[in-house]
Amino acid sequence: MNELLKELYQEIILDHGKEPRNFGECETHNKSAHGHNPLCGDKVSLTLFVDDDIIKDIKFSGEGCAISVASASLMTEKLKGKKLSYAENMFKDFTDLVKGSEDSLSTIDEDDSLYALKGVKDFPMRVKCATLAWHTFKNALKE
Ligand code: ZN
Repeated sequence: MNELLKELYQEIILDHGKEPRNFGECETHNKSAHGHNPLCGDKVSLTLFVDDDIIKDIKFSGEGCAISVASASLMTEKLKGKKLSYAENMFKDFTDLVKGSEDSLSTIDEDDSLYALKGVKDFPMRVKCATLAWHTFKNALKE
């Protein structure tokens, strides 16, 4: 990976870690879940408003390390307005990406801000931080 790209990725994580997007709770929601990563102490609460198979609104709250907060923030940005089927594919792609298999991604490409979290693949402990919000999202859909 070239240095410029590395810096850009770093910047995205710092930015979203410090100023998370879609932070709080959806005024109207019909799905929600809590997630906890005991290895690091990260906690996330997710609320969603899903209508007609489309994620009309999604917000998160909680606390944790910069990776977990940045990941949750990026996720809400990516999933808002998307169809559930697309979101499921993105869940799969993202979990593949942070585990180091990026060969068959259909919803994420190198220009995507989610790529900023790819570096966690070298730190197994951090993979859980990065995927916490996404697993919480999956749990919310099961409700
Ligand atoms: Zn963490």
